[in-house]
Amino acid sequence: MIGRFAPSPTGRMHLGNLFAALLSWLDTKSQDGLWLLRHEDIDPQRSRPEYALQIEDDLAWLGLYPDSTPVYQSRRCHIYEAALQQLISSGLVYTCTCRRADLLAVGAPHASDGRPIYGGRCRPASLPTPLQPPQERHSLRLAVEQGEVVEFIDGVFGPQHFSLAQECGDFIVRRADGAWAYQLAVVADDADMGITTVVRGCDLLPSAAQQIYIYRLLGLTPPEFVHIPLLCNPAGQRLSKRDASLDLAALRSRYSPQGLCGLLASLAGLLHKPEPISPKELLPLYHRPSPQHQLQIDLHI
Ligand code: GLU
Ligand code: ZN
Repeated sequence: MIGRFAPSPTGRMHLGNLFAALLSWLDTKSQDGLWLLRHEDIDPQRSRPEYALQIEDDLAWLGLYPDSTPVYQSRRCHIYEAALQQLISSGLVYTCTCRRADLLAVGAPHASDGRPIYGGRCRPASLPTPLQPPQERHSLRLAVEQGEVVEFIDGVFGPQHFSLAQECGDFIVRRADGAWAYQLAVVADDADMGITTVVRGCDLLPSAAQQIYIYRLLGLTPPEFVHIPLLCNPAGQRLSKRDASLDLAALRSRYSPQGLCGLLASLAGLLHKPEPISPKELLPLYHRPSPQHQLQIDLHI
């Protein structure tokens, strides 16, 4: 069994990121697995190397150490290029010259995660078809054929069923600025790193369907997906890097590692009340969380 934590180094981690890290570590280590760390730094505008180092330091502070040298997506573009070539050879990748504004046109149907579903302006009349040489700045889009269904059993949320064309539509695999899309990179990496179990926030549950579709086209077996609740403020908004009071800088000044671990464990339902404990001591108590989308927390903890 191989698990992983795959943060985006775009700022200091907050409590919700650490919650996901701890649960993925516990899930992996309770099954005697290897736990790997991958920095998802393929967005050059938002990622910074110092944030990646800070993430490693914050994980170590809590007592979470990856079992291998951390991986950086920005150094693995050859893997994404190879996966893209394989998708292109399936005849389902096409060039899309739509601009953001076209895609946000009012009235367009939206996917469950809020993104507009692509209306198909650049889609070739018939598919599969060879990739056409592009004339202008373009992204690469992967076609989802009508009737494409993805079913899987989530380790927390149970049986899932997605009608991909209606619920997600054709999606981008390489952006117009040349950056790799998350969906493609995450599949190519998880497959290459031999990941067997993906534990992450349930905001990515619809992404799992897109990722399983890519696994299928690449002829690869998907990992088990385990989507966990998101930590939210009392207004029901998920914690973000903007909630500075709950970033690791603030939390480390107020808590001991065991104190914070105990708080996270009680949020996960592993302890009845927060009391100091280490990740290792939590292992015998670990079970997967119940299928809730949100866990509300008091911001003054
Ligand atoms: N890098 C993504 C994030 O921080 C997580 C990707 C994943 O776990 O699949 O939201
Ligand atoms: Zn287009």
